[in-house]
Amino acid sequence: MQPFDYYRPESFEEAFELLSQPRKTAVAIAGGTDVIPQTRDGIRRPDLVVDIKGLPGMRDLAMTSMAPCCGAGPDECLYVGAAVRINEIARSSIVQDHWPILADAAASIGNEQIRNRATIGGNICTASPAADSAPALYVLDASVLIKGPRGEDRCLPIAQFFTGPKRNALKHAEIVAGLLIPGSPAGTLSFHEKLSRRKAGDLSIVSVAVMAFPSANSTTWRLALGAVGPTPVRAPEAEAILARGYDAEAVDLAAASAYGCCSPIGDIRSSLDYRQAMVVNLARKAIRAVVAQLPQA
Ligand SMILES: Cc1cc2nc3c(=O)[nH]c(=O)nc-3n(C[C@H](O)[C@H](O)[C@H](O)COP(=O)(O)OP(=O)(O)OC[C@H]3O[C@@H](n4cnc5c(N)ncnc54)[C@H](O)[C@@H]3O)c2cc1C
Repeated sequence: MQPFDYYRPESFEEAFELLSQPRKTAVAIAGGTDVIPQTRDGIRRPDLVVDIKGLPGMRDLAMTSMAPCCGAGPDECLYVGAAVRINEIARSSIVQDHWPILADAAASIGNEQIRNRATIGGNICTASPAADSAPALYVLDASVLIKGPRGEDRCLPIAQFFTGPKRNALKHAEIVAGLLIPGSPAGTLSFHEKLSRRKAGDLSIVSVAVMAFPSANSTTWRLALGAVGPTPVRAPEAEAILARGYDAEAVDLAAASAYGCCSPIGDIRSSLDYRQAMVVNLARKAIRAVVAQLPQA
């Protein structure tokens, strides 16, 4: 591996200064589960590695009243610092109790060793279409809290953060500080499923996240898919079909229509044909799993 300088700044100002240094190829590092293998393999050649794990608030996982960013009332949002490790999320009782779909998605990432190092910020910043936290974050309507060198903090809906394969909305030297996740009403139901070649340690062939919000007169739905196009996607047509009813025919129709939002490719993990078939199968399975918990239409 090519040698590089390593810094662990304690303030955002110091981190911005390091990441903005002229004539340096600087890279932020959190868990390093993407950065280190890529540097070892010569895919990246940083001469300056800036460890952002020690920045204020980056390891926090707590309820917050930073409501303007997440559209919920005071104390109804979960703040997840960008450097919170994937296993901390999977094992958090707050997350398991109130955002179980996020705990399930986190538990599906990599293997025990990877989850002990990898961070949620790293998972979204890598911006792989197969980032396994993404479909859950999409249906949870998460927002990404971004800090920049000129003090211009901003908050982006997660769907605007992913801009293409391995591309995200960060500008030069910006850092993701954390994620804000609105609380869900009582009775919310959800299901996450990931299909991969192996049970552990492999990226998704397809992943799906479904949430349903039952109320007295109707049920609203959110459905998102991963690894099926340049970015994770929501499937609004499927959501609209399910909002009108969720009998067996509607579920089949919704699952088939979810495919319309996808533009899958064949790759080392799956042929195109198999991935195409699995989008519909997995969407159907996830919707059925939620329907099984709902009163029948
Ligand atoms: C064996 C193995 C199995 C894996 N399995 C899976 C899997 O099943 N599912 C899956 O989704 N991923 C998987 N991955 C990929 C990887 O582990 C995850 O994407 C992980 O969440 C990355 O987090 P990290 O903290 O290690 O990121 P790092 O490697 O530290 O950083 C990744 C990228 O994000 C940037 N970055 C990190 N944090 C920030 C921040 N706060 N602000 C700005 N930029 C930032 C870095 O500069 C870098 O470009 C796997 C990796 C390996 C090696």
